[in-house]
Order: sequence, then C-alpha cells, then structure tokens
Amino acid sequence: MLRYSLPLILSVTALAQSPDALMHDPAVQAAFAAAERNEPQILNEQVRVCEIPAPPFKEEARGHEFMRLFQELGLKEVRMDKAGNVIGVRPGAKPRPNLVFSAHLDTVFPEGTNVKVTREGTQMKAPGIGDDCRGLAVMLAVIRALNDAHVQTPGTITFVADTGEEGLGDLRGMKQLFGETLKGQIDSFISVDGIGLGITHIGVGSLRYRVMFKGPGGHSYGAFGMANPIQAMGRAMAKIDDFQVPTTPKTTFNVGRVGGGTSVNAIPFEAWMEVDMRSADKASLAALNEKFKTAMNEAVTEENKRWNNRGAVSVAPELVGIRPAGETAKDSHIVQTAIAVSKALGIAEVLREGSTDSNVPMNLGIPAITISGGGQGSGVHSLGETFDSKDSVQGTKRAILLAVALAR
Ligand SMILES: [Zn+2]
Repeated sequence: MLRYSLPLILSVTALAQSPDALMHDPAVQAAFAAAERNEPQILNEQVRVCEIPAPPFKEEARGHEFMRLFQELGLKEVRMDKAGNVIGVRPGAKPRPNLVFSAHLDTVFPEGTNVKVTREGTQMKAPGIGDDCRGLAVMLAVIRALNDAHVQTPGTITFVADTGEEGLGDLRGMKQLFGETLKGQIDSFISVDGIGLGITHIGVGSLRYRVMFKGPGGHSYGAFGMANPIQAMGRAMAKIDDFQVPTTPKTTFNVGRVGGGTSVNAIPFEAWMEVDMRSADKASLAALNEKFKTAMNEAVTEENKRWNNRGAVSVAPELVGIRPAGETAKDSHIVQTAIAVSKALGIAEVLREGSTDSNVPMNLGIPAITISGGGQGSGVHSLGETFDSKDSVQGTKRAILLAVALAR
C-alpha cells in the first residue's frame, strides 16, 4: 500500500474555512478515516491505562505511562512538570497559536481500589473508565489520527495529561500549568472529560473550608457557664442556613461534615465542620465568602457574650479548597467553533456548566472549554462506573475537528 510521506498541510483557504467546510478538507477526511480505523485499538488503550491506578495525589504511575506514549507517538519536548502534568508538543507550521489539549490522569478512588476492567461487547465496567480514561483515550486518538493522516496544523497543539482535577486535588495540575509551566504560552484550551457529547463553557467555582471552634472545655455541671465550641458552631450553622443567595447565577452553600466533643457530660474543647460554597459567578462567590467569614466571627462573639467570657471560644476557618469560577462567553470564538464543529457532525448542541480543569483558564480570561469524549455510561465517581463504546468514535471525530479548527 502506498502511503503519504508528505504532510497534508491544511490549505491557506482552510484558515478561513467554517468548521463545516473544514470537515471536507482532504487532510481532515484522512484523519477521520484514521480515527474510524483506530477506534478499536483506542478502546483497548482506554482499558489499559485505566488499569494503572491513579488515586488522588498519586498519579505518577499513570503519568509515566503517558510520558512513554507521548514519546512513542512522536511528540516533542515530552516532560513531566512539578505538579506531575505530562506534556508533549505537536509542532504546527508556527509555534502560535498554541492550543493546549488535555485530559486528567487522576481518579477519585483511593489506593488499593480494584481497577480491573471487565468488558462485554461494547460495555466496559471499572472505576474511572469514563472519568477520565475516556478523555485520556480521546487525547491519544487525536494524536494518532493526525499522525496517521500526516496532518500538519498551522498552529501548535500541546497535549497535557494533567493531575489534581478531582476533589481535594484542587486543580493543582492546571494551577501549575497556567501559573508557571506554560505561563503566557497558551492561546486556547480544551479539556476532554468524561462521557457523552456535552460542551462545558461555564466554570462553577467553589470554596471549601474546614472550620475549627476551640475552648477550654470542662465538666458539664461543674464548669457550667463556660462558652461551648459545639454550641458556638450551632450558632454559626444557623447563620449559614439563613444566607440569601442568588438563584441566577446559581450560588450554593452546604455544611457537609461535622465533628467534635468527647462526652455527653463534658463541655467540649473543640468542634469542627466542613463547608462547601459554589457559584458560576466570581462576584457572587466572593460575596458569599465575605458573609461566611463575618458569620463565623459573629457566632463566636455571641457565644462568648452569652456566657460573659468565662472561658472564651475561638474560631479558625481554614481554606482547604479553591476552584476559581469563570466563564467562556457563549458568543466567543471557541464556544461558537465547538458548536459549529458539533453541528457539522450532526451532534446536538448541549451547553453546560460544571467544575473542571477549564475553571483555571476561564478564570484567567483564556478561551477554554471542556468537552465530553463520546460514548455513554453511568455511575461516575462510583465503583460501578460503566462505559458503553457504542458510537464513541463520534466523540473522537469531534475532538479531532475541534483541535484542527482551533490550531490555526
Ligand atoms: Zn473528570
């Protein structure tokens, strides 16, 4: 079989083409054909990488496998940064614009979780098989398809398998990438996360606190009259419960865990609670944060006043999680391109809000969206997570067309 050895450079007219027209460019058609051919192998890769455990803060093993894969796929400047992000560059005709195309390495599952994948027909079952082994597989599929079709994009694509997307990972991979590793070198950003065909353009921000209330503590009868950390915390919770928040943009709060005290007949020496606050709007989240801090101080002041400062209680709210809020406007180039690319492939437009890696660039005003990687499934973040690969190649093709459309 005769193979192309010359790159299929996207024609100059392709620079101005709509995604629909771009889809019919011979270079893109060749990449689509490669994606169709490769999808079975890509699904095998999805299974294989998913069986390499990647618990929170322990993504190195899976990260090293991506170093190897990026090298094998011919990416340049393959490296791992301080936060464990694995980076590989696919140079375009020019270094800019530079599109970062990413998927997250980490899962929510602790060390020791059985990550063996079971497969039956198009069905796969394993923790993390969709979130985000599908995204990681799609990233590999994009590189492979562009390579197989010898596509040279006008701009550069930097692929990143990143860390710290889930839970208390606190987006540390993204914070490192945008704050230091590739600071000032990213023109647009796509993250592929999970299953389905959605487009996330609103980044819900969150603040998480662990709040500690402390006092001297004593006998419930003998030391009666001493301020009580649990009762102070009760006052604080009542204030939180009364917060008025906007419904648009949706802004929320929740006391999720509490603890403290040693005995029914002891005034406790400490109590704690964990609080989560969210909003898609930076200003609303900041306003809620101010209300929260004021409420904590007022609760303690009231408790101490109630008991005439006989053994005072103190409060210390510790910020244990910050996910910045942000939004890429619906009429922005990147969102409109994602919609047009989806339409060209017959995919209905589903715009969403969520908390993903894109929160970080969105907050910095860098054009960013998170797309789903195709296929279907259920049980995200549960041990019974499933992935159905029926029509999953649609997700792969959309990712390819979007990458080509943005890397120019
Ligand atoms: Zn995810």
